[in-house]
Amino acid sequence: MFDVLVIGGGNAALCAALMAKEAGASVLLLESAPKEWRGGNSIHTRNMRSMHDGPEDVMSDAYPEEEYWQDVLKVTGGITDEALARLTIKATANCRGWMQKHGVRFQAPLSGTLNLSKTNAFFMGGGKALVNAYFRSAEKLGVEIRYNATVTSLDIKDGKFLAAYVGDERIEARACVLAAGGFESNREWLKEAWGVNEFGEAPADNFLIRGTRFNKGVLLKQLIDMGADSVSDATQAHMVAIDARAPLYDGGICTRVDCVSFGIVVNKNAQRFSDEGEDFWPKRYAFWGRLVAQQPGQIGYSIIDSKVLGRFMPPVFPGDKADSLEDLADMLGLDREALLKTVREYNAACKVGTFDHTIMDDCHTEGIEPAKTHWALPIDTGPFYGYILRPGVTFTYLGLKTTEKANVHFGGKPSDNLFVAGEMMAGNVLGKGYAAGIGMAIGTVFGRIAGTQAAQCALSHQDTQNAAA
Ligand SMILES: Cc1cc2nc3c(=O)[nH]c(=O)nc-3n(C[C@H](O)[C@H](O)[C@H](O)COP(=O)(O)OP(=O)(O)OC[C@H]3O[C@@H](n4cnc5c(N)ncnc54)[C@H](O)[C@@H]3O)c2cc1C
Repeated sequence: MFDVLVIGGGNAALCAALMAKEAGASVLLLESAPKEWRGGNSIHTRNMRSMHDGPEDVMSDAYPEEEYWQDVLKVTGGITDEALARLTIKATANCRGWMQKHGVRFQAPLSGTLNLSKTNAFFMGGGKALVNAYFRSAEKLGVEIRYNATVTSLDIKDGKFLAAYVGDERIEARACVLAAGGFESNREWLKEAWGVNEFGEAPADNFLIRGTRFNKGVLLKQLIDMGADSVSDATQAHMVAIDARAPLYDGGICTRVDCVSFGIVVNKNAQRFSDEGEDFWPKRYAFWGRLVAQQPGQIGYSIIDSKVLGRFMPPVFPGDKADSLEDLADMLGLDREALLKTVREYNAACKVGTFDHTIMDDCHTEGIEPAKTHWALPIDTGPFYGYILRPGVTFTYLGLKTTEKANVHFGGKPSDNLFVAGEMMAGNVLGKGYAAGIGMAIGTVFGRIAGTQAAQCALSHQDTQNAAA
């Protein structure tokens, strides 16, 4: 029997497996995906939000605990567990050394709108390289890894983990870490959660999944049905407005469209529906997926003019380009008159001050709803560009309730030997909203805690059994 069974093959699972192995436990890791698709959503990541009190290796300036916490508070609107959030924040200050020991390399961040050197540590080679490094290190340390090993159910008695099933195969272990991600690739569950909207549409039919197809939430559902305590709800998800041409799964970051705050976004009736300049894009991009999901047809159109080119990272795939707004409307399939009216009203409302996209500048609108509160410049200089947007689900927030030791809870009582990490519990810290890089922060911190706790629990059971023998 293994000491620790880790279910999942992404960042949280790998951190847990490595910590458990380092603590002296025997570890089996079960990854649902085949080897070539291993690593879950973690392969798509680029960075981790990290606290630091002064300039350090790849981090500039300082990003102290309080500022980080205020960012979490703001994006979640207070739907967060402060103790767990602060624990996560503080632990991010100390994990880069450990990550490097297991082969993760960091790099200086990009400049421009994606300049996050104050807040985020970037992985050299992205999340794919991070995951590969962790798998290599885990293999070297003797963690047993099985691919194509989807855990279909768990045997749990009175809150105690007994075994996991991969089909008919029963796998027992002294302790278990659940790190199997959210349920974003379970389209039926998304559909059930989102229901039917005021236009008679099932919005989830038009969602694209930015990451892995293997996060189906099978175990999450089973545990909640069994009485495990949960956090957040099934409609909460990190959703980005992405290029509508993205594939159904695994489009990753190259489907991002970063020009929203530089122009206007309209729905299929060519009407604006939200403040495009409310905050910096990295703090707002995760709201726009939901905003687009709430529009008729779950579609949006980001429109900019030539003045703003060069001020944001250009989308990988070119948008529609036209010399006139009339032609752009035709290319996007929007009603010409409706779009011209929206742009005319918006242009007339722009109070242009000193445009500066690196600060929350004073260019804003007056007298229109919704307002654009920063970076409001008239759209008047051709050629004009349009990008069609769809909601792209990054991950879901419904998860298992936990505390600082990462135990799964049943009726408020912590399980002795069942632990949880990563997206399966991220909703404890992020009840809603998002700030770039927190997913990997939560997964790394709680993966490490869960692995340590699982090893401790398993090894102490071993001691008890040995003493009894
Ligand atoms: C495009 C994209 C970009 C992102 N960029 C960033 C970023 O730069 N920074 C950041 O902090 N966050 C980012 N995120 C979010 C980040 O990916 C997640 O927060 C993080 O990867 C979650 O890690 P995890 O280990 O919990 O889940 P995952 O990495 O998704 O791993 C879940 C694992 O569980 C496996 N699994 C699922 N069900 C089962 C089962 N029944 N049995 C066995 N195995 C199972 C899956 O195959 C997978 O290996 C991004 C996400 C996406 C999609």
